[in-house]
Amino acid sequence: MAERKIQKALVSVTDKSGVAQFCRALHDTYGTQIISTGGTAKVLEEAGVPVTEISEYTGFPEMMGGRVKTLHPKVHGGLLARRDSAEHMEEAAAHDIPMIDLVCVNLYEFEKTVAKPDVTFADAVEHIDIGGPSMLRSAAKNAQSVTVVCDPADYGRILDDMAAHDGATSLELRRQLQVKAYTTTAAYDTAISNWLAGQLIDAEGAVPTQFPERLTLAYTKQQDLRYGENPHQAAAFYRDANAAPHSLACATQLNGKPLSYNNLLDTDAAWSAVREFDEPACIILKHQNPCGSAVAANVTEAYDKAYACDPVSAFGGIIACNREVPLELVEHFADVNKQFVEVLIAPSFTPEALERLSRRKNLRVLATGGVDAPAAQEMRTVDGGLLVQDVDHVTEKPADYQVVTRRAPTAQELHDLEFGWKVVKTVKSNAILIAKDDAGIGMGPGQPNRVDSAIIACDRAHKACERMGVAPENLAAASDAFFPFRDDVDELAARGVTAIIQPGGSVRDEEVIAACDEHNIAMVFTGRRHFRH
Ligand code: 5GP
Repeated sequence: MAERKIQKALVSVTDKSGVAQFCRALHDTYGTQIISTGGTAKVLEEAGVPVTEISEYTGFPEMMGGRVKTLHPKVHGGLLARRDSAEHMEEAAAHDIPMIDLVCVNLYEFEKTVAKPDVTFADAVEHIDIGGPSMLRSAAKNAQSVTVVCDPADYGRILDDMAAHDGATSLELRRQLQVKAYTTTAAYDTAISNWLAGQLIDAEGAVPTQFPERLTLAYTKQQDLRYGENPHQAAAFYRDANAAPHSLACATQLNGKPLSYNNLLDTDAAWSAVREFDEPACIILKHQNPCGSAVAANVTEAYDKAYACDPVSAFGGIIACNREVPLELVEHFADVNKQFVEVLIAPSFTPEALERLSRRKNLRVLATGGVDAPAAQEMRTVDGGLLVQDVDHVTEKPADYQVVTRRAPTAQELHDLEFGWKVVKTVKSNAILIAKDDAGIGMGPGQPNRVDSAIIACDRAHKACERMGVAPENLAAASDAFFPFRDDVDELAARGVTAIIQPGGSVRDEEVIAACDEHNIAMVFTGRRHFRH
């Protein structure tokens, strides 16, 4: 059976871009009758497209300030009636309900409205579209016969499809549009319920729970990825509808090959790490661990110091900077160090730096446009489930540190302890980071016991000191969690560590403090653990 041509189309859009051209093509080429709501009808009339107003069509006025426009049996009957059911067709004829072949709707801009800083609750509620999603859902349910259009980006391919099918659309296209319509209404309702949940306040004026009983997510595909963690794993990258403006997901890629799954994971870790610093900072990250880290008077110096921490590991790493990247920095890694870099992420790049970077065709360059405060929460999947937690952010300041040893840290030691404490939260647990002169020169990541992490971190720090031609003395150690035994302290002391920062809280704290006093080590407790599993 030949498909029925698009004879009647109901068009009601908030985003009016391209709608006049689309409707003109429908009308002029196929003689389609266009039925439309107030604002849309006005735009079409002004563009000279003949249009039937919805109120004329239903015999009912648009009312209640637009809340009721298309919610009428003549609309929904015309969309939902099964064309292959004699009963449905008889009922439609008895009630004078013509068939509507195409619905073109995009919705009130709820998300844009609630993103405004001065939005009122009433304004937000008024921007909850009711008639639009209803039409999308009715039309999509009957995609066997009805074409449902919810995105101006699809106008072109629908006209192409009609041209290829004598004024009808193909079932294949309608099925694709069906999926898109339900994805759109689902995401729309998710945005509404998420926003409303955030507005709930209890008697004390606080949000009762950050973790609602049911969690619905709305993510939009950014890109298909070539593959996942390994080449046999298919993968894609999705963006949160509420992503912060300077987040990784919103960054602009200015140069280089498409990002891979591992690039995104590592860039995320590097960007989160460098965001901890107010002063110019650089993190070089490999396989989720910061193998180089430093702060300095400017970002190029910070890069130089971060690179010097561990040039071997830096090869093939991610560089993250929290300041605009100048040409000098690019010259240092590209020309001086000849460092192979997977991704370079920063708020911005000078034009000269960008010009120089463009000569490295493969190097992925991401500009975030700024630095946001850390996101509130993060998620991870487990087998059959989802874990949600507050993001781990270092808020402890030296004034909050508790000195627990006889000797207090010197000013320089305190400085290095603070630096180490900010970086160690990015190192996989069990984590030890050795800091010296504003750089993370040795890192012991991911060992199932803390002694091995300490030994690895010191070993790396010693190699860094040897390369830099300085004595491996006056090292500051940061431990992401407490020391369960004094053996960690003994190992660190034997390797030149004179100051330690850790959360404290072990049943053997006294034994650990006594060990520090024996070795004349200054130790502070932060009272806060920074595991990263
Ligand atoms: P217009 O600018 O044409 O006056 O309105 C277009 C918008 O109205 C579209 O975004 C559409 O989803 C929405 N809309 C259509 N019918 C109804 C209805 O009956 N109730 C509500 N609340 N919105 C509707």
